[in-house]
Amino acid sequence: MSSALELATDRSGVAPDGPPRAVVRATTVADVQRTLAEASRTGTPVVTRGAGTGLAGGAAAGPDTIVLDVSGLDRILGIDPIDGIARVEPGVITAELDRAAAAHGLMYAPDPGSVAICTIGGNIATNAGGLRGAKYGVTRDSVLALDVVLADGTRLHLGRDTVKGVVGLDLVGLLVGSEGTLGVVVGATLRLLPRPARVGTAVAYFASVTAAAVAAAELGAAGLRPSVLELVDGKTLAAIDELRGTDHAGRGAALLLVQTDGFGAGEELAAVAAVLARTASALDTTHDVAAGAALAAARRDALPAIEARGRVLIEDIAVPRSRLADAVGGVHAIAEATGTDVYVFAHAGDGNLHPIIRLDPDPGAADRAAEEIFALALALGGTVSAEHGVGLLKRAWLERELGPDVVTLQRRIKDLFDPAGILNPGKAL
Ligand SMILES: Cc1cc2nc3c(=O)[nH]c(=O)nc-3n(C[C@H](O)[C@H](O)[C@H](O)COP(=O)(O)OP(=O)(O)OC[C@H]3O[C@@H](n4cnc5c(N)ncnc54)[C@H](O)[C@@H]3O)c2cc1C
Repeated sequence: MSSALELATDRSGVAPDGPPRAVVRATTVADVQRTLAEASRTGTPVVTRGAGTGLAGGAAAGPDTIVLDVSGLDRILGIDPIDGIARVEPGVITAELDRAAAAHGLMYAPDPGSVAICTIGGNIATNAGGLRGAKYGVTRDSVLALDVVLADGTRLHLGRDTVKGVVGLDLVGLLVGSEGTLGVVVGATLRLLPRPARVGTAVAYFASVTAAAVAAAELGAAGLRPSVLELVDGKTLAAIDELRGTDHAGRGAALLLVQTDGFGAGEELAAVAAVLARTASALDTTHDVAAGAALAAARRDALPAIEARGRVLIEDIAVPRSRLADAVGGVHAIAEATGTDVYVFAHAGDGNLHPIIRLDPDPGAADRAAEEIFALALALGGTVSAEHGVGLLKRAWLERELGPDVVTLQRRIKDLFDPAGILNPGKAL
């Protein structure tokens, strides 16, 4: 069992100032209701916590805070194959839901790189994306209804179990991505999809990262919509090779991993391969599901492989897909100008780049590089956080991206939900 100090931070590298005032390990909704009602009465800040894999400091907690750990609310309450829905508690590990859905021939589409270790509640609170986002969207696209406990302890059911429904304002959409600032998610009705009958995988190597980014854009221009479209630059490939003993970096300066799925997977893979072959220096394709999963697993190793080389800042910008090559080029130019060691991998199908900046030997230079990368994202018409959230780390950029009027409106909405200001204060908004 983790110590109180370990429960006061996440994977962002934010160091806790000390253990929190208290840790509540909730195993029932009543535990959550009692904790919030008491915290509202006493004005005590509450930081809700899933698995603590967040990368923006959203689950970081100060010494005056109650950590409300909901990972023990971890039951899959039901799967209905006819309606194509699952009812779950928030502490369910994302990969476990997908495994349970598979037993019914179904799939839970959102699959963050952390799918084996993060929770559904955390995914909902951060609106997490994943590798299959290129075709199936982000967590918000899979959430139909939520059970939420408000700051005063009231329990509400938001949304509905039907695929369609427009009665009232979309409060589910508002709660998804609210990073624990509006309420605590204690239950969810999630959309499941038919598990694709076939999967095709292509791995293409390119002479430069720009060539790989251009090829990714050409897939879109050719009218193709693969389920996975991931880009990995040469430095990241070298780190993966070091971790796993593979030889990706020897084959090219960047890699695109592409998966197609569904009944037309073979035909779509052939069309993908034809586009990639125009500029790739090497190209492998497979229809073998296990071989495809092994290649995707290499991509999931990207972040742990870079982290194995030392402390890092993990960034998360998105740009319009048409600007992906400009963004990759811009990030590499910033690395050179600031003298920093920057690795890039990307959910290329979503225009979502993860520039990973080594903190050593000069953390100040790493911070400067990060600031320039955020400015680049906004200049290209993008965002400073595509999927990790604002948390603590991006808060200074909120107003620059949204403008003061929108920030004020969002804070007024927070005041309505949480008048005592106890839910994750100082985060996200
Ligand atoms: C190796 C690795 C790969 C990753 N890859 C991806 C990726 O591909 N895509 C992606 O989007 N993210 C990725 N992440 C980031 C992280 O896994 C996600 O942000 C995930 O959604 C966090 O889930 P969690 O259960 O760990 O939440 P936590 O870290 O515990 O919490 C995250 C935020 O959600 C709030 N919260 C948690 N549970 C609840 C709840 N029940 N109700 C209300 N608020 C709640 C917390 O207060 C906090 O603000 C990755 C992280 C790692 C370490």
